[in-house]
Amino acid sequence: MFNKIEHIGIAVKNAENSMTLFNALFQGEPYKTEVVESEHVKTIFYQIGPNKIELLESTSPDSAIAKFIEKKGEGMHHVAYEVDDISTEMERLKKEGFQFINEYPKKGADNKLIAFLHPKSTNGVLIELCQEIK
Ligand code: ZN
Repeated sequence: MFNKIEHIGIAVKNAENSMTLFNALFQGEPYKTEVVESEHVKTIFYQIGPNKIELLESTSPDSAIAKFIEKKGEGMHHVAYEVDDISTEMERLKKEGFQFINEYPKKGADNKLIAFLHPKSTNGVLIELCQEIK
């Protein structure tokens, strides 16, 4: 079951410049900055009331974020939903015919296990499932 939207991911070219912009927009600072080496990405998290925004900057020219920006430019990258049990949820969705980019849950930013659904199977929207690591 999907509990709620956990965060919205935004692809940015330059995290430092974007932080200046988003700090002014949100009237606040990010609560966390984290590099996820396996994904070649630097993540910056803002908490806005009950919601989170994740800025994503590529740390390598062949990362998924670099390719996304090359193709589509900066902007909305993915919507992440919180689930209680990511493996059960992945199994359920695979049975429903949804395709995943990664076959198994992997460690993401902000203490989460994550998996991405392929946008081909979700009307062009990149959807991330995430489960808090306890
Ligand atoms: Zn995310």
